[in-house]
Parts: sequence; C-alpha cells; structure tokens
Amino acid sequence: MTTTSAPAAPASAIPQPNPRDEAQSLDTKDRGQKKPEKNVHIPKPKFRLHAEDLRHPGSTAFLVYIPNVASTLDTALSNIVRYLYTAPEYESTEAGSAPKSKRPFFCPSIPPTRSVTLFLRDFSGVAYTTGTELDDDHKEIHLSLPYIKHCKESSSKADPVDELAGVLTHELVHCYQHTSPPDSEKSGKDIPNPPGGLIEGIADFVRLKAGLSPPHWKRPTSSAEREKEWDAGYQHTAYFLAWIEDVWVGRGAIGMLNDRLFRVGYVSGEKGDSDEVGFWESLFGAGVAELWGEYGQWLDGCDERNRKAEGNWEEEIVNPV
Ligand SMILES: [Zn+2]
Repeated sequence: MTTTSAPAAPASAIPQPNPRDEAQSLDTKDRGQKKPEKNVHIPKPKFRLHAEDLRHPGSTAFLVYIPNVASTLDTALSNIVRYLYTAPEYESTEAGSAPKSKRPFFCPSIPPTRSVTLFLRDFSGVAYTTGTELDDDHKEIHLSLPYIKHCKESSSKADPVDELAGVLTHELVHCYQHTSPPDSEKSGKDIPNPPGGLIEGIADFVRLKAGLSPPHWKRPTSSAEREKEWDAGYQHTAYFLAWIEDVWVGRGAIGMLNDRLFRVGYVSGEKGDSDEVGFWESLFGAGVAELWGEYGQWLDGCDERNRKAEGNWEEEIVNPV
C-alpha cells in the first residue's frame, strides 16, 4: 500500500495454523504463472463483496476495472502462496554444492483465514485490512471509493487495473502473513512485535514479485539513494527483502522469515531472547544492520554495472532466473 494505508492487523489478529483449510492444488489452478513446487496448496476462502454506495463513481469504476473480484483475489492468493508459503526443493546435486546454512528451508503453515470480505466504502486514504470483532479467521479489506475514483481520473502512468490489483494483493498479504506466534499473548511470553515497516515491506515484497509495482516505485540506484532505515516500510523495505531473496540468500528466504515470525517470533532463534540481531543472524547469517550495509554496497556495485549497461536488476528481481 502507499503510506496512507492503515497498519496491519495486530498480532492478536493472526490466526492459528490449521492444515485442515480447504485447499486446492496449484497443479490444477495454474493461472498462467510459473508453476510452483509440487504439493503446494492454495487456500479457497469464501470471498465476499460489500459495496456501500453503488451510486459512487468509484463503485462503477471498480466493477469495470475488476469485473471478476474472485479471480483477482485468487491470483493474489496464488502469489502469496508462491512467494511466502513455498519452500524450495533442492536437487541432490544442488544440495552438495551450496552450504546448508545458506539454503532456505521451512515447512509452510498457511493461516486458516476462512473468509475475506472486500468493502468498497467512502473514506479517505487508500485501503486497510482488519480482522472481524467476532473471529479473526474472518478478514475485512476496506478499499476507498474516492481512491478508486482517483485511479480512474489520475493523469499518472499507473494502469488502474494493475494499481487496484496491486493494492488488493498488498492487503490480502495482511490477511495471510504471520507477525508473531499465535499463542504468545495468551501464554504471557514477552515476544515483541516485528517493526511495522517489516510487515508492510513483506506485503509490498509480494506485490513487487507479482509484477504489480506501480510506476512511482523506484528501486534505489545507490546506497545514498536508499531510505536511512531498513524498516522504512512499503517499497523501500520490499526492495531490500527482494535483494535478500534474490541476491543474498536465494529463493524462499522471505518465506522462511515469515515462517520464523510464526514459529518463534521476532526474537533470536537460538536464545529465545528479544534480540533483533539474533533473529536476522539465525536466518541469514548477519544482523539486519549488516545486511542493510551489504545491500548498500551491492547497490553501489549495481550502479557501476548499470553504467556499463549490463542488464536491468529490477527485471531480474521480478523475474529471477
Ligand atoms: Zn499494508
């Protein structure tokens, strides 16, 4: 989302893992995307649409741009499963060539979200996601009618269909991402929530990987062009996470991070203490400040390479070879 979106649902809204969710194999549900690994299942929650004001020009525009809401949300869900809930498989030859600690490995556990209701409402801002008061297995995405109208009338280069699909993908990630172990509050464990910028960055990481980054997103071309902090959120953190996935570690890295938030929380994997450095070190072999520094150095090197006209890094990030 843009900076006007509301924060992700609180940790208490994160549902319990449940393997019994209604699921369907991607093998029979491939929507023209690259095929994910075998045995990957995508959930089939109930999707509902609640239009509050059909006379609003935003409502009319939405139904023109997104005529099949279920299909758009199913595509978004496929991307969420692909980029957050698919552990890479390794060939036996691959296993022998890479150090084990560098290879992402996790056992995906998709939250048992049972329904997602999309509200088209008249409010300022862009969109936000929340659980319902009664049951956190049911999620609500609220999308601003004035914003939809703005997408239609904007003179920017953004394609309204891609923009709306991108916003919905971002919000649907909030319905399906982990932030902390589901029982941490009840059990009285003092597990801190991850920075909001990381949660928003993961949502935009999926949007970026889905090929729905809007024209105003700009990957920094040098360390000086970066935001000052790694957890600035949204696309700033998303490009950093994409670098971790595509350059530093490999496919499945951010899925592993999401999984660690669910199983351990934003604490050190080894000691169980609230050590942010330990969380990142146990995942990727370096603290987040060190990773941020490495990212900056890599950007500077990339800038050098770009000046020599050797390819397009952003293209590689979206469509890694
Ligand atoms: Zn968000």
